[in-house]
Amino acid sequence: MSHRKSREKDKSVLVIGLGRFGSSLALELMNYGWEVLAVDSNPRRVQRYSESLTHTVVADATDEEALRQIGAEQFTRAVVAIGTHLEESILCTSLLVDLDIDLIWAKATSRRHGRILEQVGAHRVVLPEHDMGERVAHLMSGRVLDYVEIEEGFSLIKTPTPRRLQGVPLGESGIRKEYGITVVSVKHSGQPFTYATQQTVLDSGDLIVVAGRTHDVDRFAEVR
Ligand code: ADP
Repeated sequence: MSHRKSREKDKSVLVIGLGRFGSSLALELMNYGWEVLAVDSNPRRVQRYSESLTHTVVADATDEEALRQIGAEQFTRAVVAIGTHLEESILCTSLLVDLDIDLIWAKATSRRHGRILEQVGAHRVVLPEHDMGERVAHLMSGRVLDYVEIEEGFSLIKTPTPRRLQGVPLGESGIRKEYGITVVSVKHSGQPFTYATQQTVLDSGDLIVVAGRTHDVDRFAEVR
C-alpha cells in the first residue's frame, strides 16, 4: 500500500541538482516553509548546502537504485535542476516518471531540450536562461518596468501611465478597443497597487499593470 501523502497537504519537495538554479530554488522553498530533500552527485555541492536544507544526499540521480534508496517515490513533487548535463537530465526525468511522481518540474537549457523533457513525461518545463533573456529584452526596450509572459503570447507588464490614458475614466478611454489591452491594476503615487475599475482616472505619476496579447502589450508600451 502506498503511504504517499496527498499533494495538497504535502509540503516536501525532492530537488535534484544543486547548481545555481537548483540551489536558489531549494533555498527559496525553505524560506516558504517547505521541506527539501536535495540530491547532487557532487559531494562539495551537497556539503555547501547541508546546513541550510532539510536533507541533503550525495547520489547519482540517474541510478534507479540510488533513487529508491533515498525514497524518491515517496515524493509527490520533484524538480530536475540538472541543466547542462543533457543526458543526465533526460535520464533522471524519465526515472522519476517511472517512479510515478505526481508533479515533475524540469529545467531545460534550450527549447529542444525542453521538448524532449516533455516527451519523456516532465509535467512542467522551465527555461530560465531563455525566459530571462526574453524578459530583459522587453525591459530594455520601451518603458516596461516589469514583464511576465503568462503563457505563450499573453503577457502582463508594469509601465508608467502614458499621456493618452491620463485624466479620463478608463471606461471612457477606448483603450481596449484601440490597443486590445486591459489595465488591471493601478498604483497612484505614494499608494500601494490596487485593482483598476471603469471609473479609475489615471494621473501622470501613476504606474499601471496592463494585460493582453504580447504583441498588443508591446505596442501599448510604446505609447507616450
Ligand atoms: P546551473 O546552470 O543551474 O548551475 P548545472 O547544470 O551547472 O546547473 O548544475 C547541475 C547540478 O546537477 C550540478 O551541481 C551537478 O553536480 C548536478 N548533477 C549532474 N548530474 C547529476 C546526477 N546524475 N545526479 C545528481 N546530480 C547531478
